[in-house]
Amino acid sequence: MVFGAIEAGGTKFVCAIGDEKLTVEKRVSFPTTTPEETMNLVIDFFKDYQSELESIGVGSFGPIDIHRDSSTYGYITSTPKLGWQDFDFVGNLKNHFNVPITWTTDVNAAAYGEYACGEGQGKDSVVYYTIGTGIGGGALQKGEFIEGFSHPEMGHMIVIPHEKDNFKGNCPFHENCLEGMAAGPAIEARTGRKGQDIPASDVFWESEAFYIAQCVYNTTLILSPDVIILGGGVMKQSHMVERVRKNFEALMKNYVRTPTIKNYIVTPALKDNAGIIGCLALAKKIIKK
Ligand code: ADP
Ligand code: ZN
Repeated sequence: MVFGAIEAGGTKFVCAIGDEKLTVEKRVSFPTTTPEETMNLVIDFFKDYQSELESIGVGSFGPIDIHRDSSTYGYITSTPKLGWQDFDFVGNLKNHFNVPITWTTDVNAAAYGEYACGEGQGKDSVVYYTIGTGIGGGALQKGEFIEGFSHPEMGHMIVIPHEKDNFKGNCPFHENCLEGMAAGPAIEARTGRKGQDIPASDVFWESEAFYIAQCVYNTTLILSPDVIILGGGVMKQSHMVERVRKNFEALMKNYVRTPTIKNYIVTPALKDNAGIIGCLALAKKIIKK
């Protein structure tokens, strides 16, 4: 008995096979190109396991349709990513694999991974953000995703510009939204350098931390979660989490007494594996139901 996992990112796909203990037995990764080419690689990967495959968990870039009663359930919807608009992801998989498939956002899957076996373990309320090519957030309450008419789009919350920053953001939809101000491409558009090439000592990181801290502040006020996990490429700057904690404390001014800050604002215990392990855990969860 094995479970399948697909972490479908806008840049790359990761597919994995894992067992009951959520141990990854086999894993492949390839760039996200056209839906046809990419899905063929996905299908080829899982074909080898067809006889033992119990279920598949998918965490996808979005926006996606998560409503079971919708005629476009399982589709990627209005993504700007060429060729993937209105793509029937789950339907495509179902054509090849007659097993239960779970379908959620990539960041929800990462949140679930941390809930199942990372920083969110044993916690009732868990929020996960990725700060990478985009910014997205996922929230769990007692093991279920928080969602309504759709999944959350927390990455597009409005932030106050830092006093030393006159960049308006590069989100095509909003001025001064978090993703447009603080995701990797915004860093590059503003500074002419990729985040990984900016030294830890650069004053730039202070404004970056200010934006992420506003996100943590808003999240704290709205959800009072037990933990806020900050993942994604930009958080690989090891000094960032502490800068975010400091900026958060300055914004909050002790209005809300959160759990101990070093346990409250954290980076993912599963590092880059939060998403794929979350997909495996979700695949296992539907079988257990
Ligand atoms: P994706 O969001 O595409 O899944 P990542 O989470 O790795 O992938 O995010 C990629 C973005 O993060 C890029 O914009 C990249 O410049 C930035 N990034 C990657 N590594 C670092 C780093 N060490 N420091 C700062 N920024 C980084
Ligand atoms: Zn936006």
